This record gives sequence, C-alpha cells and structure tokens, in this order.
Amino acid sequence: MMKTNRHSRLASHRIPALLLAAITLPFFTMTMHAEEKQPAAFRTALVYDDIFLKHDTGPGFPESADRLHMMTKHLKAHPVSEKLLRMEPDDKIDPMPWILEMHEEEYVKELKRACEAAEGVTRLGADNPISPHTYDVAVKAVTACLTAVDAVMAGRVNNAFAAVRPPGHHAMPDRAKGFCFFGNAAIAARYAQKHHKLERVMIVDWDVHHGDGTQEMFLKDPTVFFFSTHQYPFYPGLSGSPDIIGEGAGKGFNQNVPLSPGGGDEAVLKVFRTTLTEAFRKFKPQMLIISAGFDAHEADPLGGLGWSSDCYAELTGILRALCREQGHERIVSLLEGGYSERGITEGVRRHIEALEAPAEKP
Ligand SMILES: [Zn+2]
Repeated sequence: MMKTNRHSRLASHRIPALLLAAITLPFFTMTMHAEEKQPAAFRTALVYDDIFLKHDTGPGFPESADRLHMMTKHLKAHPVSEKLLRMEPDDKIDPMPWILEMHEEEYVKELKRACEAAEGVTRLGADNPISPHTYDVAVKAVTACLTAVDAVMAGRVNNAFAAVRPPGHHAMPDRAKGFCFFGNAAIAARYAQKHHKLERVMIVDWDVHHGDGTQEMFLKDPTVFFFSTHQYPFYPGLSGSPDIIGEGAGKGFNQNVPLSPGGGDEAVLKVFRTTLTEAFRKFKPQMLIISAGFDAHEADPLGGLGWSSDCYAELTGILRALCREQGHERIVSLLEGGYSERGITEGVRRHIEALEAPAEKP
C-alpha cells in the first residue's frame, strides 16, 4: 500500500509533466508507428497489366481482350477485390532466359520477327492470330507468372493468380499452338525450381482442353508432375490419353484424366478427391501451379463439361487443403482458357475467393 502510494506520488508530483511526456510519448508513438507500418496480411495476389489487352486477335475470335475486360470489371464490383494484393509484372525480372529454358531460340526469334512485320492481325498457324504487340504481350505474360512465383516464394502472399493472356498450355517448345505462344505454367515451374531451388513442382491443369504443350515439356522429367483433367476426345487430340504417363525417368509423373461431356461438377470433384489427391500426396509438391482455364464452365461456347461457377471454388479448396497437408500454401494460378462471360467472371471470381478465403473455410 505504502509503495503504491509513494510511486503514484512520484509520478504525479515529482516528475515534471514534460519529462513524463518525453518518457511515455515515444513509447506510444513507436507503438502507433509499428501498427501503421504493419503490412496488411494479404493472402492472395492478383497480377495483372493492361498490356494484356493489346494482343489483338481480330473480330469474333474467342481468345480476345474482352475476356480480361469482363473479368476485371466483374472483380471490381465484388468485395474480394479489396482483399487482393494488386501487382503488376515485375520489370526487374528478365523473362527471356526462362522462356529459353522451355522454348527453342529460333521459334522465339521467329515469333518476334513475325509480330514486328505484322500489319494488323495476321496468322501464325491456324489457331494463332498475331498482331504487332503480340510478342511483347506474350513476354509480359511470362513476367507476370514469374512475378506471381516470386510473391509466393517471398511469403508476401500465400498464393497468387496471374490474370494473363495469351494463355500458354498448348505452346510447344518450337511453335505456337491453340491460342498459346509461350508455356506460362511450364516456364513458371522451371523458374520455381532453378531460381527458387524447389525440387518438386506440380502442375494441375483443369482447362477443358488437354495441356499438350506443358505435357510435352516435362514428359521425361520426374521433378515436375503434370496432372490434367480435360474433355476427351476433344482438341488437341490424342495427347490427352490416360496411357501417356511419362517417358524414361519421367514415367509415372504425367497423369491424364479424360472426362466425358456433360459430367458436371461431380465427375471432376470425384477425380480431385481421389485420383488427384492420391498423386499429390505421393509426389509431395513444394509448389502447386494451376493451369486455370474456365472453359469447362457450363456457359462456355467451346467446352462441354458443364461445371458450375462454384465448382471452381470447390476445386480450389481441395488443392489448398492438399498443399496445407504438405505444410505450405504455395499456389500459383495462371489463367488459361475460358470464353464465356459467366466462366470468365463468376468462375474466376469463385476461384479467387476460394484462394483468398481463410484457411478453415476455403
Ligand atoms: Zn482451353
């Protein structure tokens, strides 16, 4: 009692008010600054750049800038938009060495030359319209994907979605194919391995079309597991056969799961809960890359698998839970196809909401 009284007397009468302020204020100021400087805890990054709109594919072509226009407008109108760490492709990254990890130099040069020479929209093969900006846009799309990998590896976010175009999973080492120019997912996987020293990366491709380019790049590689669900038989053809399981050292590290038209959500959810879960637990990837197409959506004019928008949230939740089992949340999701308004707006949003949701309730 005595001690308390003496202390309170000292504090209130003996110590001049200004000195008291000098002692106590810095503490409060520091506390406030520490709170102000505390970075917001973002779970999910959205990597995007308006340059992706500049890849002109001509009127009426399904893979168009309108896709990203619709997506960004839709996202802005929803609360999840406020919770995302917005990022632009990091110009400090030089994507070229990483593009050349997966593509032949002659093809890269040829694409650059063809785009520079293009007057308006012309074609590089049947399914690949190009225009003067296409090469630069495709290079920037790769940079965006590598930016997403960096953000996740640096722990700035748990996961990231790169809203890029052109898509990448049909691109072959030596040629453009199926709306794709550079293998965004494949390049991101190799970058995660060589730049960030990860040993095992898994690519899950849920685009309605088989990711034949990605498969081709890792067919003999046991360090990148390629898992694809896709409508079959369908474009691009026989590459999506379940008999293709990898070659040489890569045998057993490629898994194709064909789906029949009209199977809906249940068919793919069952695959994710069984076949994919088994492969994932066995491989134990240190990073998961999603080749996230939205053309299996029920509204898509090209695909026929009939998935709902909510299906994309459920698939995402399964993948997040599997990553957490491995003790991490490292997911880098890259936009591939998706040609309906609902697929590219609702479907993408449900995917992003599920990436961003608190871990307990994906
Ligand atoms: Zn597709």
